Amino acid sequence: MKTKLLAASAIAASLVLVAGCGNSDTSDTKKEEKTAKTETTAKHEDHLDYHDQKSWQFEAGDTQSPINIETAKTEPMKDTGTIELNYNQKVTDEVDNGHSIQVDDGGQATINGRKFELNQFHFHAESEHTVDGKHYPIEAHFVNENQDSRLAVIGVFFKEGKANPAFQSILNNVKKGEKTTVSEPIDVAALLPTNKSYYHYLGSLTTPPLSENVEWYVMSTPVEVSKEQIAEFNKYYDGNNRKIQPLHDRPVLKHTDN
Ligand SMILES: [Zn+2]
Repeated sequence: MKTKLLAASAIAASLVLVAGCGNSDTSDTKKEEKTAKTETTAKHEDHLDYHDQKSWQFEAGDTQSPINIETAKTEPMKDTGTIELNYNQKVTDEVDNGHSIQVDDGGQATINGRKFELNQFHFHAESEHTVDGKHYPIEAHFVNENQDSRLAVIGVFFKEGKANPAFQSILNNVKKGEKTTVSEPIDVAALLPTNKSYYHYLGSLTTPPLSENVEWYVMSTPVEVSKEQIAEFNKYYDGNNRKIQPLHDRPVLKHTDN
């Protein structure tokens, strides 16, 4: 998942790596090489130059996505936590963008009383998140953004079962590298589970720039698609899933929809 806005910060981050600290010892080549190698992770707390703020190092980040969700270690959510989704059936367009099949769409998500707008949804195979170490064949990501640009991604696992007409429409409309106008309405609600129980944690984008402070809501109930549909998706993408990242000390909350 990614947004245009956040792509700019990736460029900024790479410039920082090139710019470096500007305080290296030129008489010691070996030391310089070593410094260059560790530049991505090193922090220069003793050298905070306010005239050269572009050279400031970024925190590497211990809150990355995806994660393995250990169900026995989840904590019940104290908030009401209700999710209501009203996504548009008339989608904007669809594209095979080189790293996923993406459907640009609009509509509203109300998450725990907060309003978000859907930007787009796309798919990964296998799933990016795992539950108790288990992958699902596909995971859909619905990327929602609120008024102050906070991202909330709703993850939905697809498992093998009966054919899903909405997913079939998306497969039928794919064109490589070219945005397709989708004429027929897509029943986007059929790509979401009826039961809106989920796992919630704070993570990141799973494609560069891997920006953090992304709210994740991973639905615990999977949606069914057929074996043939999984095989058809895998002709386009099979392995566009980022590997599991360390949880560190993040809590994973569980919301149960009644
Ligand atoms: Zn994604």
